[in-house]
Amino acid sequence: MSHDSTELRVANPATEEVIATVEAVGPAGVDAAVRRATRAQTAWAALPPGDRARLLRRFAATVDAHVEELARLEVREAGHTLGNARWEAANVRDLLDYTAGGVERLTGRQIPVAGGVDVTFSEPLGVVGVIAPWNFPLPVAAWGTAPALAAGNAVLLKPAEATPLTALRLAGLALEAGLPEDLLQVLPGHGPVTGNALVEHPGVAKIVFTGSTDVGRRVWARGADHLKRVTLELGGKSPNLVFADADLEAAAAAAPLSFLDNAGQDCCARSRILVQRSVHDRFLDLLAPHIEAVRVGDPADESVDMGPLISRAQLDRVRGYVPDGLDGIRGTAPDGPGHWFPPTVLTGVAPDARVAVEEVFGPVAVVLPFDGEDDAVRLANATDYGLAGSIWTRDVGRALRVSRAVRAGNLSVNSHSSVRYWTPFGGFKQSGVGRELGPDALAAFTETKNVFISTEA
Ligand code: NAD
Repeated sequence: MSHDSTELRVANPATEEVIATVEAVGPAGVDAAVRRATRAQTAWAALPPGDRARLLRRFAATVDAHVEELARLEVREAGHTLGNARWEAANVRDLLDYTAGGVERLTGRQIPVAGGVDVTFSEPLGVVGVIAPWNFPLPVAAWGTAPALAAGNAVLLKPAEATPLTALRLAGLALEAGLPEDLLQVLPGHGPVTGNALVEHPGVAKIVFTGSTDVGRRVWARGADHLKRVTLELGGKSPNLVFADADLEAAAAAAPLSFLDNAGQDCCARSRILVQRSVHDRFLDLLAPHIEAVRVGDPADESVDMGPLISRAQLDRVRGYVPDGLDGIRGTAPDGPGHWFPPTVLTGVAPDARVAVEEVFGPVAVVLPFDGEDDAVRLANATDYGLAGSIWTRDVGRALRVSRAVRAGNLSVNSHSSVRYWTPFGGFKQSGVGRELGPDALAAFTETKNVFISTEA
């Protein structure tokens, strides 16, 4: 897609049919949006906290009334399975509700000092830019937007080129719910044009960027000219550690969707399956039928487990990581229109091979053997990323030791869970900077101001 085009063509990844064209916003449009957002933010921050909270709860209720519509739109533009898309739309609703509860709780502190009173205030930052990826367009947009609004900011949301429709609908629902005009604006467009204009605009106080590590690094560097605040949620290459003492049947049954969910286009995908050598072959025997049973097809069909990849370019990228003739386990995928790739598990791969250390962002995992706990931790940490990971063991002490030793932000034991809107989420190393969600989500959208009031004047 040319960066100069003023139109974005949105295609259904399962059929390749163009379902909408959306006008791209250029730098002048971004500038005008920042001005409008600045005015809207001033009025929003001046509202009584109870009124802001009530409006955000109404926004949550309006999203709730449209969960099915938003989910079906996510299926059409992003190829998510219907079950996943419903969860994602409900996640937006729940996060709005949760952050609405934070508005009146954004309290400062009173700190003992001599000669007066010292208090702190949590001031909003102003206008926040949220730049979202195509892999989870709806929830990721909300993870930045909901706490930013709750903390008294205005939001300019730049969705990914391929997936602007749910973001536009979300902003429409905000207006229907009664949120002020211009408080949440969606700016569809190309990353290097529209996204970059947000990053470089002096009127934007913070960028919440979710996307690839390469672009995230550039966003941070460009924003540094204005010392712009950032939250960066970047790539991952997460380990799934299976120890010999684990419930191997349960670990094998859970492994497929831990890297195939959303066709592997998931920053938390457990795409490095590390298995203790003594149970390596047995684990593979247990895993194979589960991989072969994964149903890949039309994501709108409720019985399907996995849909297509987002685009032809992404399909080519994934194919580039899986040369013909590698050993492993292969599932099945449809032929014909749509960007299909079968579930794939590779064995016999060198631990430093590209496919073993780089983010493939497709339905591909490698299985690597390890020899003991130290070796497991060493291998788990042998990537530049540090977003998520899982540990399968029946030994509680080992579960905790390994959880503490793996350099990643989101770990789960005997489970692959990563994301709850009320627990913190984010990456170590090159997987990111800062945290989203959880009890401190609003704090990332405030500046602390300290005020001393003399009692001796
Ligand atoms: P991407 O980096 O190509 O694009 C992300 C967003 O940045 C898009 O909206 C894009 O238009 C915009 N962009 C591109 N160039 C830009 C520039 N120069 N300036 C400003 N904005 C620019 O990523 P993607 O391919 O859309 O998403 C996939 C990546 O996102 C994967 O690496 C995945 O791991 C990561 N991701 C991370 C998380 C997380 O929470 N850690 C969540 C989802 C996705």
